Amino acid sequence: MFGECHAHIMMDGVDYARAKALHAEMPNDNAIRDHLFAYASRGILFIRDGGDPFGVTGRAKELAHEVGIDYRTPIFGLHKCGHYGKIAGIAFDNLREYAKLVEEAAREGADFVKIMTTGIMDFERYGRITGEDLSFSEVKEMVHIAHEMGFAVMSHTNGKRAVLDVLEAGADSVEHANFIDAEVLDAFAETGAVYVPTATVARNLIGKVHGSDDVLRRIWEQSAATMRAAFGRGDVVMAIGSDGGAVGVLHGAGTESEYACFLDACGGPSPKLDARLEAGEAQIRARFRRH
Ligand SMILES: [Zn+2]
Repeated sequence: MFGECHAHIMMDGVDYARAKALHAEMPNDNAIRDHLFAYASRGILFIRDGGDPFGVTGRAKELAHEVGIDYRTPIFGLHKCGHYGKIAGIAFDNLREYAKLVEEAAREGADFVKIMTTGIMDFERYGRITGEDLSFSEVKEMVHIAHEMGFAVMSHTNGKRAVLDVLEAGADSVEHANFIDAEVLDAFAETGAVYVPTATVARNLIGKVHGSDDVLRRIWEQSAATMRAAFGRGDVVMAIGSDGGAVGVLHGAGTESEYACFLDACGGPSPKLDARLEAGEAQIRARFRRH
């Protein structure tokens, strides 16, 4: 079985406010163990977390060995004040503060750095991304600071321009990466960064209460077309990450549905597709630990 290259152990896949309340005072070990077990019981023995603001992922790293999971964490994600990201991490105002937070994550045992450089897709209006993107110069410095401290960088980024920016800045993996095209896939191939589409997030919400079904369907179809193109050209590194814990994405089951997204996008099961996804996960396993 494949590993899970993008999850949030703190979240429960149903209700963020409920999960937040559960962990607000201190990380709730029972909930963490439940979520870890949802992976381990399916044979998913690798997890790379996308961060949370409550110290839950740090605690999960201490518990993961109980069920034989190789667990990697950024401790918290990093986002700029006033920009998207507070559900998955801590805010900084300027690069000096950013560098201090990277040092704090290092002290707390981070394996890599997670940054958020754009908002998320608007599930009501196709093609729109919420909030304002960070500037290229800022993103470049953020990646540089993390690399200088021996960390790989996982970047939450959507939109063509912003994904080109983080790739040029040297991010090691780009998460979501919605609304990209062949030029961006060229940049993935050139840089060797891992493409983690988390396509199951929008697809799982079709027919549910969140968002417009038409918009969700178009977002999924766009992701599927990009995944198919990435698979077809052979030189883009890609991996399974479901955003497990996000609304509509249950832990463990989400990893399976993200794999199903790849199967549907890339012409069904094939040893070639499995080999590509295994290679992507191997890259993540090798790069996303502190060097
Ligand atoms: Zn995430």
